[in-house]
Amino acid sequence: MHLDGSMADGGNGGDGRGVDVSAAWGRVKRRLRAELGEDVFASWFARLELEDVSGGVARLTVPTRFLKSWIESHYLDRVLTTFRAEAEGVGRIEVGVRGASAPARPAPTSGKPSPTSGPLTRLHATATQAALQGPGPMVETEIAAPRGEAGTVDLNGAPLDARLTFASFVVGRSNALAHAAAERIARNDGEGALYNPLYVHAGVGLGKTHLLHAAGHAAREAGRRVIYLTADRFMYGFVNALKTQSALAFKEKLRAIDLLILDDVQFIQGKSIQTEFGHTLNALIDSGRQVVVASDRPPTELETLDERVRSRLAGGLVVEIGNLDEGLRTSILSARLAAVRQSHPNFEVSPQVSSYVARAITANGRDLEGAVNRLLAHATLTGAPVTVETAESAIRDLVKNREPKRVKIEDIQKLVASRYNVSRSDILSERRTAAVVKPRQIAMYLSKVLTLRSLPEIGRRFGGRDHTTVLHAVRKIEKQIGEDAVLGDEVELLKRMLQD
Ligand code: ADP
Ligand code: MG
Repeated sequence: MHLDGSMADGGNGGDGRGVDVSAAWGRVKRRLRAELGEDVFASWFARLELEDVSGGVARLTVPTRFLKSWIESHYLDRVLTTFRAEAEGVGRIEVGVRGASAPARPAPTSGKPSPTSGPLTRLHATATQAALQGPGPMVETEIAAPRGEAGTVDLNGAPLDARLTFASFVVGRSNALAHAAAERIARNDGEGALYNPLYVHAGVGLGKTHLLHAAGHAAREAGRRVIYLTADRFMYGFVNALKTQSALAFKEKLRAIDLLILDDVQFIQGKSIQTEFGHTLNALIDSGRQVVVASDRPPTELETLDERVRSRLAGGLVVEIGNLDEGLRTSILSARLAAVRQSHPNFEVSPQVSSYVARAITANGRDLEGAVNRLLAHATLTGAPVTVETAESAIRDLVKNREPKRVKIEDIQKLVASRYNVSRSDILSERRTAAVVKPRQIAMYLSKVLTLRSLPEIGRRFGGRDHTTVLHAVRKIEKQIGEDAVLGDEVELLKRMLQD
């Protein structure tokens, strides 16, 4: 590695302390790994290298344009703050593609230069299609380069939860159609896809994930090869795995999917990921493989996805799961209670208590499950039978949850701070560095749109600022969201996390 200067003369103050940049970089990578987790780190940072630091600018490189744009749009602030914490003089980060503008650096494994030009996603699309259609002449060389290193990610998806089966899924009016469709698809053998994709949407806790897992189990039992993925997993692992597999392994894997199940697609975001998603979807559907997805909204409302992907998703069968009616809630509840009694034979809940709970908790299945856990905790701790009265106090907060969730300014500040890797007190402080100003403004904006607080009140809660400062922040973020799709997605995601 060639370093143009030490941190001291490269920094803005020139304070004379010679910091060992390589060592600092090593610590930065360790911190990123610890904070983001092994999967995320392996997907995006394992091949990030420090080229040099000079004039306060740290130049980092990655082997592909895709990695560069993903890091830039999702992690630039984070890398910068982390770097700064280790080496104060760093004021800016630049990410380049190795072999493009920076002096060429042979890839350690192959000795071949990494693919640095041409839209990677296109090459990948070709590969995806070819993988399903049979060998194509170009493919091997086109996606051969980046491999190895991705040993930690694979194409196997997430495990299925053994409890979430068709047997434990209670069918009622509101979910009958979704259930029937999922069952047809799971048990369908060999006639090709029926409705493709099957798109199930519903509010939180209404059984989407349960149904998807159930379909997965049933299809596996029928000997079909199933991959279940959440949007997260798709974004952080799957796409990367697709990119880094050798062409051969990659083809084998894609050929091996009979049923792809993708949960919570509303979280899929980012331009390149979306492109990958579109290609994967097209390739699978066009070759008659079944795809099932779930989302918290209908396809038309997936604002983060572009029109073509949306219409592809809407092109099969779209079914909604409605709210659970009282009959369904009662059945789900007794099924849960019966399941719990298997491991806690002394746990008795009278029909009165059951029907009280089924009437009180109207929102969703998740809260019903929460209620059962609380009743169990109560019974185990006190050793007393559960009465309607004790049940009432045990589930009080769940009952309250029926009202639309009120978001607290404090929670907004905490979430935004952690997302941008600053502390809540930084947000409340007077500091005006970019690393703090942006999250502060986003938090103010979210406070305005997610709470009923007035501007002066929000100002007070942000370290006693004036209401005009809040107004300025709100307008600014509004404007930036309009201009910057990445920021828009980011803020949308924060909103959803707060409201969930
Ligand atoms: P979603 O994915 O729609 O947010 P989940 O599938 O995670 O909801 O369901 C939340 C909880 O409610 C789970 O414990 C699930 O087993 C239960 N549940 C929801 N609907 C049903 C149903 N029809 N039958 C049995 N359990 C259900
Ligand atoms: Mg779910």
